[in-house]
Amino acid sequence: MKWKNEDTIAAVSTPVGIGGVGMVRVSGARAAEIVAGLFRPSGRIGLAEASSHRMLHGWIEEEGRAIDEVLVVHMKAPHSYTREDVVEVHGHGGTIAVHAILDLICSRGARLAEAGEFTFRAFVNGRLDLTQAEAVPDMVRAGSRLGLRVAANQLRGRLYDAIQDLRAGVAHVAALVNANIDFPEEDVVFAHRDACAARLEAARDKLDTLLREAGRGRQIREGLGVAIVGKPNVGKSSLLNALLRENRAIVTEMPGTTRDTLEERLELDGLGVRLIDTAGIRHTEDRVEREGIARSRAALADADLALVVLDASRPLDAEDRALLAHTSPARALIVANKQDLAIKPGPIGAAELRDYEQVPLSALTGGGLKQLEARVREWVLRGEEPVWESAVLTNARQQQAAARARGAVADALRTLEQGQGEELLAVDLSRVLDALGDIVGETTAEDLLDRIFAEFCIGK
Ligand code: GDP
Repeated sequence: MKWKNEDTIAAVSTPVGIGGVGMVRVSGARAAEIVAGLFRPSGRIGLAEASSHRMLHGWIEEEGRAIDEVLVVHMKAPHSYTREDVVEVHGHGGTIAVHAILDLICSRGARLAEAGEFTFRAFVNGRLDLTQAEAVPDMVRAGSRLGLRVAANQLRGRLYDAIQDLRAGVAHVAALVNANIDFPEEDVVFAHRDACAARLEAARDKLDTLLREAGRGRQIREGLGVAIVGKPNVGKSSLLNALLRENRAIVTEMPGTTRDTLEERLELDGLGVRLIDTAGIRHTEDRVEREGIARSRAALADADLALVVLDASRPLDAEDRALLAHTSPARALIVANKQDLAIKPGPIGAAELRDYEQVPLSALTGGGLKQLEARVREWVLRGEEPVWESAVLTNARQQQAAARARGAVADALRTLEQGQGEELLAVDLSRVLDALGDIVGETTAEDLLDRIFAEFCIGK
């Protein structure tokens, strides 16, 4: 591991820039001693005498000169974020004051913390498992309320608990198998074959559920990719604008994964959505092919769900049909737009649309917009047990390890069925346990850990 855990580390944990409060966090054996040397309390109690978690008011001083008026709190090991001695200095927000404090702390022997190093210590010291540690940046960067709930449940240990349950079941079988290897005359595996199979099948089913839900976990965490497609003049921009107007919180406009798209982020009914937009590109580059199929295909390639906008006041034409040929009913909702002009309001009655779900809308009047938003949300949640309340795999690393565990469980079941001997079974089971251990970080390789924590912010 690249970090020395015996160092006392320090960092500014609040965002860079002007703000109400700026906080410097210090963790390690020397944290209290270092800050005590800079802190002049306004009351009678100093940092050295204060009880844990008690906030003290006073000044940070350098050679008698006032640097900042602060509140200081000492969280004594092991009752702190890192399980080490942690001291937080809360000063006036603003870059100069907090950095002056940080410099003083470092001049007295603390080292600048690397990105993620506080959380890394929490992990190494057993306060968080790897899934909980991974939930920390997810909390910080959550782009929606549902995303935040998924992260909060992971931070609370829902996924960790589910994985520990799985491990316990598999470890039980492994213990029997190992006993059999040691005392072959008793053949306990043979005697408990059905019970062993039942435990492994339960583990397999649970892993299947986790893997099946993983896609939704990712969609909730990263935001659902929604492309608005359709031929020119059906009302795509009008729909986009109506959605943006209704839902403040456009965080950023960022490039989509293909060159031809942009993404705008918004929150629909608590669900984070990345609206994949081709509109911004329309006015640049080639004027010949202004919008058409090629652009829509680029947007569709990025999307989890397509909103296919059709003009309900006119019959479908060849261009609409060509576009539909690039979508699938499982990943598309038809927006039957311009209801206010339609002779026969409601879903469009065309044979090509038979398998698609339709949402009638007037982007002009806003009629149907709420229903459309609700349908998008339902499409992700599918009316099942709310995924954010249960254990959910939220990133590719967890997903890959779970898939490895799933494969090894299947192998173990096959070995057991075919009665191929305890040694083989023991190997399969230890592969399952290793893969499950990877999810929670107990058997994870060091360089991988380095990479995971490197993605955190400084001060976390
Ligand atoms: P885009 O080319 O698909 O982005 O279409 P626009 O959003 O630019 O809309 C094309 C035209 O249709 C504009 O004049 C809009 O005002 C109009 N329009 C869009 N949606 C509706 C609707 O629901 N009802 C009516 N009456 N007009 C609409």
